[in-house]
Amino acid sequence: MNKIIYLDNAATTKTAPEVVDAMLPYFTEHYGNPSSIYSLGSESKKAVTEARETIASFLGCKTNEIYFTAGGSESDNWALKAAAEAYKSKGKHIITSKIEHHAILHTCEYLEAQGYEITYLDVDENGRINLEQLEKSIREDTILISVMFANNEIGTIEPIKEIGEIAKKHNVIFHTDAVQAFGQVPINVDEYHIDMLSASGHKLNGPKGIGFLYIRTGLKLRSFVHGGQQERGRRAGTENVPGIVGLGAAVKRAFAIMDEKTVKEIELRDYFIQKLETEIEYCWLNGDRINRLPNNVHFGFEFVEGESLLIKLDMAGICASSGSACTSGSLDPSHVLLAIGLPHERAHGSLRLTLSEETTKEDVDYTVSVIKETVEYMRNMSPLYEDFIKKNKKK
Ligand SMILES: *Cc1c(COP(=O)(O)O)cnc(C)c1O
Repeated sequence: MNKIIYLDNAATTKTAPEVVDAMLPYFTEHYGNPSSIYSLGSESKKAVTEARETIASFLGCKTNEIYFTAGGSESDNWALKAAAEAYKSKGKHIITSKIEHHAILHTCEYLEAQGYEITYLDVDENGRINLEQLEKSIREDTILISVMFANNEIGTIEPIKEIGEIAKKHNVIFHTDAVQAFGQVPINVDEYHIDMLSASGHKLNGPKGIGFLYIRTGLKLRSFVHGGQQERGRRAGTENVPGIVGLGAAVKRAFAIMDEKTVKEIELRDYFIQKLETEIEYCWLNGDRINRLPNNVHFGFEFVEGESLLIKLDMAGICASSGSACTSGSLDPSHVLLAIGLPHERAHGSLRLTLSEETTKEDVDYTVSVIKETVEYMRNMSPLYEDFIKKNKKK
């Protein structure tokens, strides 16, 4: 078994060859500091400007509203902490959801310890927030709403436009963690009334350790890193020029192939879902069937432990992810699966498979056959399953 079937594109993606090609000269020939005045420096500066223009054009914003960061986690931290600090004279109440990425949730915990009050919105069984609950949660002292564009585990896309409209109506700042969505679905910050948006290079076939935060003009956010005048003084430090160039190239590429890729992925995703549903008994799809990222397949299997399934898949050359956080050293089941109402034992039996434009029907067929075989094998060893089958037969 030497071919790897990579179905973990929500965790990270392969850097596209043309992205690597675009980056390489900025390590070797064009190594100048963008702040220098000689032409070697201006080459770098020009490349940074071009990347900023590319990103701004796809978000429908101004170039000076894009701030390069070291990735999604940094952008999320900056957005929340700086907005909390800047607007604390108005209030100390923040609204988010129960299914955010830990970059948001752990930042919220930090802010709670600093005296801020956080409302964590519930989600329905498909992982969508309730707009009425959102509107009812807004108070005089609410300064920020942060709801992710699309969930990284179950792939559910949130009603971002409606959230933006509610935020605007109540004059509350709206931040969205769009790390999973940017480059996969079209986003226009004005149309959706987004005031701040986080994105990351390595989730869209760009390099790791580079991302950006969009900050709408007029927001009085403090600098994230103090120092030189880079990023208009708000995020000091010599620019990660190769990373920025790579991010720009990745964004350009993502939008150029988006339409075609989306059609292909949705077709393969739905084929994948249907095949699992028809070939394997006692399994279920997690997340919203319609408002769903084009590349996300997330399943639960009764009487099967997600971690053991992952190990078997790895042995068969398939990279996937479990819904639970066990892999990251915690025994707690995923907060996302608990929030959509799964009991603990069900939340432990989950599998996330995220496709790329390189995934083929053969990959899917092979993966389903390995899952089917493994699930049957594991169930045959499960006393719980044996009891369940006996009971079902009596009926
Ligand atoms: C991956 C991810 C992040 C973190 O991004 P990094 O660039 O890895 O720091 C944040 N939010 C979501 C939804 C993600 O999927």
